[in-house]
Amino acid sequence: GLKKHFALKGSLFSTKVTAHVKAVDGVSFDVKRGETLGIVGESGCGKSTLARLVNQLIRPSAGEVIYEGKDLASLSKKDARAMRRNIQMVFQNPYASLDPRKTIRQLMLEPLVIHQVGTKKEREERVLSLLERVGLNRSHADRYPHEFSGGQRQRINIARALVLQPDIILCDEPVSALDVSVQAQVLNLLQELQKEFQLTYVFISHDLNVVRYLCDRIAVMYLGRVVEMGTSEELYSSPQHPYTKALLSAIPKSSPFEKKERTVLLGDVPSPVNPPSGCHFHERCPVAMAKCKTDSPVFKETIPGHQVACHLADTQGGN
Ligand code: SF4
Ligand code: MG
Repeated sequence: GLKKHFALKGSLFSTKVTAHVKAVDGVSFDVKRGETLGIVGESGCGKSTLARLVNQLIRPSAGEVIYEGKDLASLSKKDARAMRRNIQMVFQNPYASLDPRKTIRQLMLEPLVIHQVGTKKEREERVLSLLERVGLNRSHADRYPHEFSGGQRQRINIARALVLQPDIILCDEPVSALDVSVQAQVLNLLQELQKEFQLTYVFISHDLNVVRYLCDRIAVMYLGRVVEMGTSEELYSSPQHPYTKALLSAIPKSSPFEKKERTVLLGDVPSPVNPPSGCHFHERCPVAMAKCKTDSPVFKETIPGHQVACHLADTQGGN
């Protein structure tokens, strides 16, 4: 039930106005230990805000984040700090997320010092061995971020996210800023690390191609809401929501014999400021009906493990 609404105050023709930005507008999902959950949607759909809510970097307007049975917002400061160790984040921009004035060693030691983990020697050893594990070497520890390529910097970010031995890593577009040739290497690394350290991933991307092979389940977001959620297999083989179908049809065919009808979406993603009434997708939906303008569809299970928010899913079993 997570919501994050911002109020924007300004003036228009000398009248004071307040606009409400519904960045995340009632999102519910679960993540199972050891799985990779993909959260996919176009930019501005609220995926990064959602990640920040889960990581407690910002507070929700409503709803809660429950981890091992406990509402994270209700924890004491001390418990919240301990809990935060377990949820780490890898951000999109490997350039901006590393302080340029610090060496890699300093950057990686920081979280360990803050959380008072181990002795000085143990901390040093953990940093150096993680650097090696992500494909760099010990001699890189005393260099500065600018001395590395984008792919190497993202490896450093990943190593830094791992120093506290977290359970969950929220990856917010971790390969979007990288060259295509480097993307696959970083994705492979993430997959290996998941097995090795029994990590749970929430993997945010605008690119359905990227999440396809990495994720067990996928949630598709549109304007602050999850419109469809299911296993990767189900979602790719029989998407039910018109938006998911449109996103999938935009992916190039893998062979010229593959039959695929392209759905071209009209217009851009509307602004999350005062979003459309009813189904948020109705202005762009190729199969919208009259009631889509007024009634918001309920997010419900159509077949076990597959949920959809679309009025058509009520009447036609989703197809
Ligand atoms: Fe399209 Fe209506 Fe379904 Fe929304 S509820 S996706 S507008 S058919
Ligand atoms: Mg984003």
